[in-house]
Amino acid sequence: MVLVLVEHSEANPTDPSLQALTLARSFGQPVHALLVGAAADLSEHGVSVTHVAEHVALGSFAPDAWAAILGEVAGRLSASAVIAAGTERGNEVIARLAARTGLPFAANCIAVSPGPPVTVTRLRWGGSLLEEARLHGSHALITVAPHVVPVEPSPMPADIERFTPDLSDEDLLVRVVEHVAALGGGVSLTEAKVVVSGGRGVGSKEGFAMIEELAGLLGAAVGCSRAVTSAGWRPHTDQVGQTGTKVAPEVYIACGISGATQHMAGLKGAKRILAINTDPEAPMMLNADYAVVGDLKEIVPAISAEIRKSR
Ligand SMILES: Cc1cc2nc3c(=O)[nH]c(=O)nc-3n(C[C@H](O)[C@H](O)[C@H](O)COP(=O)(O)OP(=O)(O)OC[C@H]3O[C@@H](n4cnc5c(N)ncnc54)[C@H](O)[C@@H]3O)c2cc1C
Repeated sequence: MVLVLVEHSEANPTDPSLQALTLARSFGQPVHALLVGAAADLSEHGVSVTHVAEHVALGSFAPDAWAAILGEVAGRLSASAVIAAGTERGNEVIARLAARTGLPFAANCIAVSPGPPVTVTRLRWGGSLLEEARLHGSHALITVAPHVVPVEPSPMPADIERFTPDLSDEDLLVRVVEHVAALGGGVSLTEAKVVVSGGRGVGSKEGFAMIEELAGLLGAAVGCSRAVTSAGWRPHTDQVGQTGTKVAPEVYIACGISGATQHMAGLKGAKRILAINTDPEAPMMLNADYAVVGDLKEIVPAISAEIRKSR
């Protein structure tokens, strides 16, 4: 069997976790899910058993505790693979499990074959290279590149097994103690349907007021390029790209972003790109579905004004 760590938000499984479940089914073995803190409805996703870890100390994210629980369940069930979404949490928990067990960990996978040994295809270099790797060991530890594997429903009634894990004080040394609301109205960059993103062309930290205004009108999340986070205009959590967040919106509005390969690596899941740039030859403009040549400081406020007028 294959064990999948399913992340959830108030008992709703996240899209990257559903993508991980879809990839897990390609092993051709029964798929079990592990959820921490709450059960979620996985009856459409080919899960035969949902294991729900409940513990008074698991009210907030504790990566070592999650890794301990995942390792315990995987060992007890003799899982041939342990899979998670390639999110910050998924990668962190699987990395900690790899450190605890000494097993190899393949991140950013997009295809698997059960072996033995388990073989994976994974994205390297921001998606510009596909690597085939063989994983040796009792369990293959895998994370799935977000927004690459489309979710395919597979209805199946799932049994739910609740249990209380044994956790040590060490397991709980690292844990979330406080949540600070993100800038930009709280729309998550990974899940946003529309992202309004700014690059060096925005010109300053203060210049992001117009990006935030347009994002607010569209119910969008604010993103940015690394030039922007390096300049300290926005926090790293807003960065889109190879070393930032991978997004998959219906529309990505790129304002003053040149479209370097490392930035485009975060956009592979975007359905449509609207680019605003003074340089018609910028790679972002050449990759865009809609391209507006001009100064974003005029164009972005003009779009916001039109939206306001139409309401
Ligand atoms: C290992 C590595 C990892 C990296 N990871 C990332 C990553 O995750 N994400 C990321 O974004 N980058 C990443 N980078 C950096 C990347 O290579 C680029 O340097 C960066 O994306 C450039 O940001 P930018 O497009 O905002 O700036 P620039 O490349 O300077 O482009 C600015 C653009 O704004 C336009 N412009 C200027 N003024 C205006 C105006 N008034 N109106 C309209 N347009 C205007 C210009 O024509 C230009 O196209 C990484 C680099 C390395 C080496």
